[in-house]
Amino acid sequence: MGESDSRGQPPENNIRLAPYLEWIDLADVWRLKEAVCKSVDGQRRRLTEIARYIHDNPELGSEEFKACELLTRELEENGFEVQRWLLGIPTAFCATSKGREKGARVAVLAEYDALPGVGHGCGHNLIAASAIGAGIAASKVMKELSGEVLVVGTPAEEGHGPYAGSKVIMAEKGFWDGIDAAIMLHPTSTRWAVGSRSLGIWTVKMEFQGQTSHAAASPHEGVNALNAATLAYMATHMLRQEARRDANLVIHGIISEGGLANNVIPDRAVCDFGVRSSDGVYLEKMVDKVEKCAEGAALAMGAKVTMTKKRLYSSMKLNLPLIQTLWQNYKDQGVDITDWKETVDGMPMASTDFGDVSQRTPSTGSYIKIATEGTPGHSRQLAAASMTKEGLDAMIIGTKALAMTLVELLAEPEKLKEAREYFKTH
Ligand SMILES: [Zn+2]
Ligand SMILES: [Zn+2]
Repeated sequence: MGESDSRGQPPENNIRLAPYLEWIDLADVWRLKEAVCKSVDGQRRRLTEIARYIHDNPELGSEEFKACELLTRELEENGFEVQRWLLGIPTAFCATSKGREKGARVAVLAEYDALPGVGHGCGHNLIAASAIGAGIAASKVMKELSGEVLVVGTPAEEGHGPYAGSKVIMAEKGFWDGIDAAIMLHPTSTRWAVGSRSLGIWTVKMEFQGQTSHAAASPHEGVNALNAATLAYMATHMLRQEARRDANLVIHGIISEGGLANNVIPDRAVCDFGVRSSDGVYLEKMVDKVEKCAEGAALAMGAKVTMTKKRLYSSMKLNLPLIQTLWQNYKDQGVDITDWKETVDGMPMASTDFGDVSQRTPSTGSYIKIATEGTPGHSRQLAAASMTKEGLDAMIIGTKALAMTLVELLAEPEKLKEAREYFKTH
């Protein structure tokens, strides 16, 4: 940021970039960052209570009523304007804290759904606490800034219930288009990182229909749907050999129905596949090929096939300017964080509905390390790790990084502009 002759006089270029934002100099940005960090420290006890309550009351996706009630009440008590039942989703919400003038809208995302059997084995209780903490901390300095800070509650990330992958539903309804940047964190046992990629995923269901017949006395009168399914299963797996290596193709499937008795030729068999890739365009092509495998198998066996293809989650669209900003706010706290360049080149392992947010607006996630390496994800051990001192310390660091990023983006409009430009051109 350039020097100004007299304080409060914005330099030319900044006026052009964002006329609605009053210029704030670098020292002020540091002061604001310090203020939000102090606020987060002050909230530690309360954030621990929030994380504990959600941890002790695990709710499956689309049913996170207790968590939603606690989080929205907390935000309301801290001066946020809260919209419940966001877009008709019972456990989604949007809480807004406004600055002194209109301006950019930056969002921190909360998740709070648990897993069957292992409770908060994905540590979403910490995601919720961090989003609340970061949002509240940022709201404390909003009187000095223009724009809005949003805390958005996004249910059912683990894909349960009628609002499974709610960020996708929100994307389809255009919700993210009205937001200038979205950030969040996720607990893990592997490493501290910002800028991880994720895999887009489609599900493909193949339902084969044949003709039952006596398997010994009149096999010639039957059409074996299981044989068609088996052939489709094999053909789909053979696609792997021609997979583009840089596109991280993953195909995983099962035969979920394959007949009822061995002496009856099955007239119904079903294959369920997941197809993933880090390249969304390539992924669609591969899904078409999977469909051809099913059609070919049905043709060969004289069966019929009904296909149901569904795009579940998009892959993560990386936004380097945003990644660098969030990364720096971890680094400045002395965190031993993986170099972002290494992370963005790393192999994407999983899929998330945050990918769909990233396709609509500049977004980046971050990983906080809450447990010793080797602690499996989606496990009781990780759920327990979320409430250890190590887990809570990591959550506080992450909350500060998120809060600092929120105010930095509002205080330095050229950073948001850069993120927007990058989003448009990549
Ligand atoms: Zn998970
Ligand atoms: Zn998760």
